[in-house]
Amino acid sequence: MRPLNLDALFRSVRTLPGIGPKTAKAIERLTGSERVADMLFHLPIDFIDRSATPTIAHAAPDTIATMRVKVDKIAFAARRGQPTGIQVSDETGILSLVYFSASKDWLTKTYPIDHEIIISGKIETWKTGKQMVHPDHVIAANDPAKLKQLAKLEAIYPLTQGLTNKVLSKTIQGALPLVPQLNEWIDPQMLNRQGWHSFDQSLKSAHNPQTPKDIQVDAPSRERLAYDELLARQLALNLVRQANRRQKGQAFAPSVTLREKLINALPFDLTGAQKRVLQEIDTDMQEPLRMLRLLQGDVGSGKTVMALLAAANVIEHGYQAAIMAPTEILARQHLETLTEMTKGSGLRLIALTGRDKGKTRNLILDQIKDGKADIVIGTHALFQDTVAFKSLGLVVVDEQHRFGVHQRMQLSEKGVNPDILVMTATPIPRTLTLTQYGDMDVSRLDEKPAGRQPIDTRLIPNERIGDVVDGLKRKIADGDRAYWVCPLVEESEKLDLAAAEERAQVLEKFFPGKIGLIHGRMKPDEKDTVMQRFINGELSVLVATTVIEVGVNVPEATIMVIEHAERFGLSQLHQLRGRVGRGSDASTCLLLYSTPLSEHGKERLKIMRETEDGFLIAEKDLELRGAGEILGTRQSGLAHFKLADLNEHKDLLVMASQDARLFLEKDPQLKSRRGESLRSLLYLFEQDRSIQYLRSG
Ligand code: ADP
Ligand code: MG
Repeated sequence: MRPLNLDALFRSVRTLPGIGPKTAKAIERLTGSERVADMLFHLPIDFIDRSATPTIAHAAPDTIATMRVKVDKIAFAARRGQPTGIQVSDETGILSLVYFSASKDWLTKTYPIDHEIIISGKIETWKTGKQMVHPDHVIAANDPAKLKQLAKLEAIYPLTQGLTNKVLSKTIQGALPLVPQLNEWIDPQMLNRQGWHSFDQSLKSAHNPQTPKDIQVDAPSRERLAYDELLARQLALNLVRQANRRQKGQAFAPSVTLREKLINALPFDLTGAQKRVLQEIDTDMQEPLRMLRLLQGDVGSGKTVMALLAAANVIEHGYQAAIMAPTEILARQHLETLTEMTKGSGLRLIALTGRDKGKTRNLILDQIKDGKADIVIGTHALFQDTVAFKSLGLVVVDEQHRFGVHQRMQLSEKGVNPDILVMTATPIPRTLTLTQYGDMDVSRLDEKPAGRQPIDTRLIPNERIGDVVDGLKRKIADGDRAYWVCPLVEESEKLDLAAAEERAQVLEKFFPGKIGLIHGRMKPDEKDTVMQRFINGELSVLVATTVIEVGVNVPEATIMVIEHAERFGLSQLHQLRGRVGRGSDASTCLLLYSTPLSEHGKERLKIMRETEDGFLIAEKDLELRGAGEILGTRQSGLAHFKLADLNEHKDLLVMASQDARLFLEKDPQLKSRRGESLRSLLYLFEQDRSIQYLRSG
């Protein structure tokens, strides 16, 4: 159960004094929830410096001034829409305050004639004198409580419609005193070393910047809060990891006979990276614990053979292996590739997808149940249906980056805790690997098989699209095949689709009957049909929105055209480019961009021309775009950080990761004093689902 002292932070902002339903809704829209905590995790991005307190004579135009003045007279607006003028003065001169729409009552109350007030706002020159239009703040000079609130540096927050900075600031300031003093969860030595203050202190400082430095990402208060968030996530992932490893698994000694047979039959030698990864997998599998390993490797780095050689470990001991692909087509392609690779080995492979119905399906199910199939390849259906295995020893999940931590945890139900190998072709930066896959052990295939032809990548301004079509004509006449990718238009799937449809129509004129269109709104089997026609060669050009299936292998496709390449992330471009260069023929990738292209835009696209190293590109992408962009929206199910910036706080992430691992080694059940505090931290950052895994051991 959630510790009681966190209740104040879990309240709805609706319960705060002075917050109506409209404001509450706006805050919710802004911070993603109506919890007070989430509002407090919404930190300022800028500030207005109100520290200048000049006299009227010395107040410089276009600067923010905070001044003590006396109210001389008010000239109320004669009609609606006309300004109200208020004359104020100090011993050095006079200043006009101007209001366009303010009630007479309010003005009279706020500006009592002959009284002293403090105003703050922007000085402007007008005609012969100085004026201030709609001062940001007006306070009676004898109101010390209000004076205290007028900060020298006023925090500026990211806002949303229906919410002003003033209202949000006020609400936040009103909520800060509710923050309880919590028992410290950070190791005291680390706290000292970093010069950090307590959680509540840090939250208060973050919202009350005293110097410009205080709103920077490396301000101590911000670093501490970022660390808290990162630590919560790392702790949660490591709790899952620990629970997973505690589950007894089968100990599979590395396959010898079968492995040798398979390797000898391969038409190539394993790369150094493949050998290293195989060893990492073997080491895991021979332990009597469950393996949960992520294999990251660029498109074409040779992951499939890794899956096969891992499968050999369990098959040699009489167990079965399952390989799960995200689509029908990929499942069929895997069956084909693996059947070819295992010719003469005596291994029995079978595929099960949604397409297999009735009798065929029952026959396949029987073979799986009786253990007649050694390797079962399938789609998601493999794990949702009534599929029973005789003895499942290993599950390989291919190209599966849509899986969350908790789904990975549930994967095992079909077998007696089978080992799990997750393979992804999205080489994400190390920092993101830690935050997304910290529950797994990670292997990297960071070496391309020898003899691969480099892809000739070119940057071409959009105006030259005619030349591109001409070039395409020659290539298609030679029997080549091409992908043509149209980008996301303004985040709208509808417009997105329209652009692709239009492009397909135009290209159809040049290549009648040879153009296929594939997009996100098609049903999976419709997509499969078009894809299949492209694989067969009936279609020569596949026009696509960004949905081109990850991992689809069409070796005859040698041309990739990407329109508005400047709108894509680098990793995305890299993924798309990886669709070509899979055969023996040289491939080309044409990145069309709309002019003029910014310096930054040029810089980015140049990286694509210079390297094909997915890991390097991913690091650059993170640097240039930030983690939010790479991970996508909240809906993607990937971890999303409110306080930490994965690019700026890399070091903190590494610290948090080590901290979490080491701590759990000492106190796996979070029973110590610090363990108890860490539980609060998990609740605070909504990572408490991971607490359930404490009991399961
Ligand atoms: P991935 O799934 O990682 O994108 P694949 O497993 O499909 O890559 O491998 C791409 C191609 O490279 C396949 O044709 C595969 O047979 C081949 N391949 C794999 N390993 C090697 C290697 N060590 N040397 C040469 N070719 C290899
Ligand atoms: Mg693959």
